[in-house]
Amino acid sequence: MSSRTPKAPRLSAVIFIDALGWDVLKGRQFLETELPYRKKMRSVFGFSSACVPSILSGLWPAQHRHWSFFYYSPKTSPFSALRPLALLPKSIMNRGRVRNLLSKVLKRLYGFTGYFQIYNIPFKYAHLFDYCEKKDLFKPGGLNAGENIFDHLERGKVPYHVSNWRESESSNLAAFKHDIAKGEIRFAFLYMAAMDGLLHMVGKESPKADEKLAWYEEQLREVLKVAHAHYEEVRLFICSDHGMATVHTNVDLMAKVAALGLAYGKDYVGTYDSTMGRFWFFNDTARERITELLNTVPEGRILSEQELHELGCDFPGHQYGEMIFLMNPGVMVVPSDMGETTITGMHGYHPDDIDSNASLLSNVPVGDEINAIPHVFNIMRAEAGV
Ligand SMILES: [Zn+2]
Repeated sequence: MSSRTPKAPRLSAVIFIDALGWDVLKGRQFLETELPYRKKMRSVFGFSSACVPSILSGLWPAQHRHWSFFYYSPKTSPFSALRPLALLPKSIMNRGRVRNLLSKVLKRLYGFTGYFQIYNIPFKYAHLFDYCEKKDLFKPGGLNAGENIFDHLERGKVPYHVSNWRESESSNLAAFKHDIAKGEIRFAFLYMAAMDGLLHMVGKESPKADEKLAWYEEQLREVLKVAHAHYEEVRLFICSDHGMATVHTNVDLMAKVAALGLAYGKDYVGTYDSTMGRFWFFNDTARERITELLNTVPEGRILSEQELHELGCDFPGHQYGEMIFLMNPGVMVVPSDMGETTITGMHGYHPDDIDSNASLLSNVPVGDEINAIPHVFNIMRAEAGV
């Protein structure tokens, strides 16, 4: 561009990198010169489906009502049509490709605009569950309760850019730079999720993680170059939602509970995420026997109501489970309703675990009160002036 073209006054950009944990960055070089202000951020208890809504809204899960994808709610379940699929051979129906295809069909059928995957939920019981991310989180009105940053940006008529989370990182980077080069936006949110998938596969210690960080570094230096060419002032923030623990133990929690011989759907309902079991009880015997069993499993523990309250996960009506059994860091529930097999890296453990910590890197100082991932929302509001 010509040097005579006047620059726009100021751009504030927030770059979200999924699973860029504080401990993932430890001992590695990553944009130290460009982003000298660096902070460890406490994560939110839950998976990205809980963390990302908190970043976008400043709310805790019990407030925005997003947590693990599936929750017991037979009255509102959209999945009753899946029941006949339970009769088909499991060897076909549980293949990843078949379930991916089915997820796409269902997503279209139900008009879901959010991220949707049926995962490994048994077709026999799918009609007992509802799904929490039916809407696009990155659009105004995208949250189950409360407002996200996009509600505020629209109301404040702030010209902004936001990535399409369905697209690849390269395509999101290109769209981001394209909008920056026009010099019209004041605020931008770039979404990059490939680091999470990679770290699940190879673990945080892998040289592949170094390669990926080097790639981000190169890409983001290029972004900064474009931004400085079109804006007088560029305020850049990189944030994440959680880190990645290395899995060392698998526990078949599902089989242990099934071995009690209680009737699923009649005595109790359980759903198994990669790091936790969540239970609903329909009689005292089921509650007592499952509690007794879980207390003998040394690889995890039942979270108290008080602890769930402190974590901001005390949902009205126990929406996501009357009892939550959380595995210790590095222990994975295998099989679970999220997958049949184990994997190298996992997150969704207690926020006290060092591998849960997220990061905030910036080229402007950030206040001491910013220390947990929902606080990224406060930064975004202040930067956008809404
Ligand atoms: Zn993940």
